[in-house]
Amino acid sequence: MRYVSTRGGAKPLAFDDVLLAGLAPDGGLYVPREWPRLTAAQIADLAGRSYAEIAFRVLKPFVGGAIRSDDLEALVSDAYRDFGHAAVAPLKQLGPDLFLLELFHGPTLAFKDYALQVVGRLFDHVLKKKGARVTIVGATSGDTGSAAIEACRDRAAIDIFIMHPKGRTSEVQRRQMTTVLAPNVHNIALEGNFDDCQDLVKAMFADTGFRDRWRLSAVNSINWARIAAQIAYYVAAAVALGAPRRRVAFTVPTGNFGNIYAAHAARRMGLPVDRLVVASNRNDILWRTIARGDMSLADVEPSLSPSMDIQVSSNFERLLFELWGRDGAATERLMRRFRAERRAEISAARLARLRAGFAAGRCSDEETLATIGDIWRRTGEILDPHSAVAVHVAARASHARGAPMVALACAHPAKFPDAVEKATGVRPPLPPRLADLHTRKERVSILANDLATVEAFVASRARVR
Ligand SMILES: *Cc1c(COP(=O)(O)O)cnc(C)c1O
Repeated sequence: MRYVSTRGGAKPLAFDDVLLAGLAPDGGLYVPREWPRLTAAQIADLAGRSYAEIAFRVLKPFVGGAIRSDDLEALVSDAYRDFGHAAVAPLKQLGPDLFLLELFHGPTLAFKDYALQVVGRLFDHVLKKKGARVTIVGATSGDTGSAAIEACRDRAAIDIFIMHPKGRTSEVQRRQMTTVLAPNVHNIALEGNFDDCQDLVKAMFADTGFRDRWRLSAVNSINWARIAAQIAYYVAAAVALGAPRRRVAFTVPTGNFGNIYAAHAARRMGLPVDRLVVASNRNDILWRTIARGDMSLADVEPSLSPSMDIQVSSNFERLLFELWGRDGAATERLMRRFRAERRAEISAARLARLRAGFAAGRCSDEETLATIGDIWRRTGEILDPHSAVAVHVAARASHARGAPMVALACAHPAKFPDAVEKATGVRPPLPPRLADLHTRKERVSILANDLATVEAFVASRARVR
């Protein structure tokens, strides 16, 4: 299995090199040169298997020969061992043909754990084999940081430095990061805002001397391995609901387009998907693109579902690459124009192909609160605001008769207690294994918003030789 860049200017790589590279050197994103196929018989054979077994079988063709099969199987099985629900990704029924796929049973209570728990172990495995180490640096406004820290903690070949804006994350978000006391985890509370954190990360990567000396790396959502590891829960849910005999539709609350792109990958592999529905909040560029052919940037506005407050959905480039006939040079021109002019033109023919694969809907903050309240009263389920966006859109999306619709629940309601309490009057408690979060010891370094200060901090603690 080889991977090519969406911008056509990088040489094809195997899975382990794509994993470590993240972004391609030409600025593009890696995609598989061709899609591995799951036959109907192979899909049928997944029925009744554990989540980890399904994840291993789905991931295996993407890894190709890069990792030994028994090592991969052990690694995937270990990744899901400590999840908080025996089914790992359980389905709950909300209505006659409406289901909820709960993806918040990992260590940080958000769906990113499902991929990152595998990706952290993949990094460690591949680095050990190569006798190498890396220094992972990242910026977070809250959620991604804790999932990355949990994925990398105690991994021998990795040191991880995560910067958050001091005093600007919620108490739960900060504590999920700063109470991880593993010696290879370094939390930085930056005297600045989230943009300052991101700018410093970019500046460290742009400082090539520093980047190469400390072998900087990232585990952000453009990494192909994260997409590959997310495909499993679409396959597992579809099989549980009757695939390959029955088609299944999914509605995905979308920010960077990473999660729903994994659903598209599952479809490309042969999973009988009826419909994929993009659910947006008020930051609705994807809805405008799909519903109106209007791919133009607007300013990001804060909403009740902050993990979807995004305008440039980085993984959308992977889909555009396909819509442009896998022409890397054309994709590169398109992305350059989009960045410069803040909008891109999509021809009627391409728009028709986009709409054949994807529908879209959006949900305001008022509708988000109304959906949390409504579902709670009618079913007893408590949704977090991101899940509510999906359920609101799913309930209105058209799909084939007899095809169940699955809305993705991407975060635990206790991560967003204020919105949930406003909608239901109930303040959702943290699950038992996090119940003592507020009394755990914290470790965090407060640093000035200054590149030299942050680089000196990283250099004094990273273990790359
Ligand atoms: C990251 C995140 C999203 C958006 O996922 P993408 O892959 O960026 O589309 C939605 N909901 C929650 C709770 C998230 O943490």
